[in-house]
Amino acid sequence: MNIAKVIVDVPAKQIDREFDYLIPNKWLGMILPGMRVAVPFGPRTIQGFVTRITDQSSFDNLKPIQELLDIEPVLNQELMDLADWLTDETLCYRISAYQVMLPAALKAKYRKKLRLAEPESLPHLHPKIKQSFSNKTELDWQDVMNHESAKIFLSEVKNGTLRVHYEVKNQLNKKTVRFVQPNILKDELEEQLKQLSKNAIKQRSVLQHFIFESRSIIQSELLSKTGATSSTINSLVEKGILSIKESEVYRDPYENREFIKSKPFPLTSEQSTAIGPIKECIAKDKHDIFLLYGVTGSGKTEVYLQSIDDVLAKGEQAIMLVPEISLTPQMVKRFKERFGNAVAVLHSGLSVGEKYDEWRKIYRDEVSVVVGARSAIFAPFRKLGLIIIDEEHESSYKQEDHPRYHARDVAIQRGLTHKCPVILGSATPTLETFARAKKGRYQLLSLTKRMNQQALPSVKIVDMREELRSGNRSVFSTDLLTKIKDRIEKKEQIVLFLNKRGHSSFVMCRSCGAVSNCPNCDISLTYHKSSHQLKCHYCAYEEVMPTQCPDCQSEAIRYFGTGTQKVEEELAKIIPEARVIRMDVDTTSRKGSHERLLQAFQDGQADILLGTQMIAKGLDFPNITLVGVLSADTMLHLPDFRSSEKTFQLLTQVSGRAGRHHLPGEVIIQTYTPEHYSIILASMQDYDQFFGQEMMIRRQNMYPPYYYLALVTISHEDLMKTVSVTEHITHHLKNHLSQQSVILGPVASPIPRINNRYRYQCLVKYKQEPALKNSLKKLLDHYQQDMATRGLQIMVDLNPQIMM
Ligand code: ADP
Ligand code: ZN
Ligand code: ZN
Repeated sequence: MNIAKVIVDVPAKQIDREFDYLIPNKWLGMILPGMRVAVPFGPRTIQGFVTRITDQSSFDNLKPIQELLDIEPVLNQELMDLADWLTDETLCYRISAYQVMLPAALKAKYRKKLRLAEPESLPHLHPKIKQSFSNKTELDWQDVMNHESAKIFLSEVKNGTLRVHYEVKNQLNKKTVRFVQPNILKDELEEQLKQLSKNAIKQRSVLQHFIFESRSIIQSELLSKTGATSSTINSLVEKGILSIKESEVYRDPYENREFIKSKPFPLTSEQSTAIGPIKECIAKDKHDIFLLYGVTGSGKTEVYLQSIDDVLAKGEQAIMLVPEISLTPQMVKRFKERFGNAVAVLHSGLSVGEKYDEWRKIYRDEVSVVVGARSAIFAPFRKLGLIIIDEEHESSYKQEDHPRYHARDVAIQRGLTHKCPVILGSATPTLETFARAKKGRYQLLSLTKRMNQQALPSVKIVDMREELRSGNRSVFSTDLLTKIKDRIEKKEQIVLFLNKRGHSSFVMCRSCGAVSNCPNCDISLTYHKSSHQLKCHYCAYEEVMPTQCPDCQSEAIRYFGTGTQKVEEELAKIIPEARVIRMDVDTTSRKGSHERLLQAFQDGQADILLGTQMIAKGLDFPNITLVGVLSADTMLHLPDFRSSEKTFQLLTQVSGRAGRHHLPGEVIIQTYTPEHYSIILASMQDYDQFFGQEMMIRRQNMYPPYYYLALVTISHEDLMKTVSVTEHITHHLKNHLSQQSVILGPVASPIPRINNRYRYQCLVKYKQEPALKNSLKKLLDHYQQDMATRGLQIMVDLNPQIMM
């Protein structure tokens, strides 16, 4: 058994298969499936995953494995099998399936080091190890592997006395912050201040700051405190008065925090009824799928927590998935309070190293519960007893990149393997899920009442067309404005919701109507006030805001629409006393800022929380009594058959933020299409009726859940090439699929050009199509050469969530 079958790290069609390598004698018996190795491939050495060990190969002159990258398999057999399933299910490369399951630290870009777990233990270790560490704090992995006594080192790694440490090769990935500090003493600063001209207001205020406070300060904070700009700072640096240093920010948001242990609540009778079948399933080691359907605040999370209790009591483990944006400190706190150190948290705010640490805790069975976003579904637990997907309707559970998997499908697959239940929770389940629950394919468990018998907030729809007719041009209706003022007076809090960052803040010429578009993509540019720039959200193109219309040279060129920044400005004009916290992609890009802003709002440092999608969920503050949705329709007009469903879900979620506790809540929805059923039914919080109505439309138009979809998007720099390939693909599918399927295309994609590449698509609607995957694979094979060398891209998305 000296031959290893290896999948190498080259994501390309023709290389997506096992290659045979010889196992050198010194590693015989040490190399197992699921381990990573470095192998020669052509002129290079690349990383690969061992899939099998055999003693036969149909090739001669096998090359030997060059390096062993793991001591234990990073992927166990279950995950290896899951990767095969994923490859087949999403038509991805096997290497992509392996990699999506592992933390980024385990990818090739990182350098491995060996360190002592506890430096004090050195005297007790093997002489060889003592010798190697005598004048070093870390050893290079490669040196250790080539060491004559590599085995001794490896066994110490297994024992935990030596640790593998991953060093990021590309330091640019680290987040750094600019600190500003004075170079001179206080009296010298005062001297400099005297010499400055009276007009140098900004420079003066910076100097005054440092006269008062000599410690270094983060540049952005300094700017907001003093009103200075970065050029003010730069000129003071040039004069030698200030200096700048870049420092890395690195912190664990949950470190040093005490969690008070919480006890399970006695369940309400509704909760008991709901949890019964789940507990039974856990007790019997059975796989089943539950839909826990309950409005926000109906006690779903408590049901999850108590189900997990049962799983832990059996010595098994649980995965709890939540959408990234609701992975709030509040949510984490509830889990940490209940399960203490048994919880690992995986979210995108962690650094590569922190994520790897959390992953390792799971791998070593040091924790039994993981709370995390989408990719936590691959947590390498060995004895999974329960998988929960909260807010199952969230589109972020689908990965929009290779491999295009949906966490729900993976959860069900793992649930089958581990014979454990899967709970999907939502107040507004996807139509697919609810339809399956109604058919009995999932067990439907309902929670109909809010805890504390708190009534759902009253919702009012305001017709913005009427407002315009009566002369109100502001983004706030008279009604909303009155209520905002009222709440500020009462010292209650307000949430204002605006869909998407800077949406429709496009620039238009009032003389000729020309709109500024991205030169590379066929979409309008978005105006960003802070930098006075126009930006493309697809290709990152940016330009300075023009002062003249490029078409007619008129100077009447203005930005339109209501981005969060613009609303903030308008608020400052109308209600100058209102304290506003703005939360959008721009204000939360720095690590931990999301959390900080929410904390500030919770502490009552602001009256109004103004934000995008990211404030729609998870917020549970007692003092919020008013929620305003500034324009409900922005999502309704997207070219996507799910736009009504998404609008309904979002409005329901946002409304759920008001009146969660003792104070009654009120919601105002502003819209230009008040007659639309998704808006009316969301205002009535009537999911069942929405479901009925939307199902009819889906059936009429042959969309999911009545039909499955497969979307093939073709892109190339050359329009003719794009169209002809799409034509051929459409034609081929029409010839090979059954009569019942509908094949639409070729048509231009809703965004017909991104980054100078034309985009066309072909959409397949089908009920049953056993030949589909094979046909698609054949097509990908056929175009393999064009994709590898001629810039053609073909994206196959089975069950697409985004139709653009
Ligand atoms: P959901 O997850 O459906 O939004 P939660 O589980 O967060 O609902 O419950 C809403 C609130 O009610 C929370 O503050 C929670 O602590 C509380 N709660 C849940 N179940 C009970 C119970 N059985 N008894 C008392 N309070 C409960
Ligand atoms: Zn013009
Ligand atoms: Zn662009």
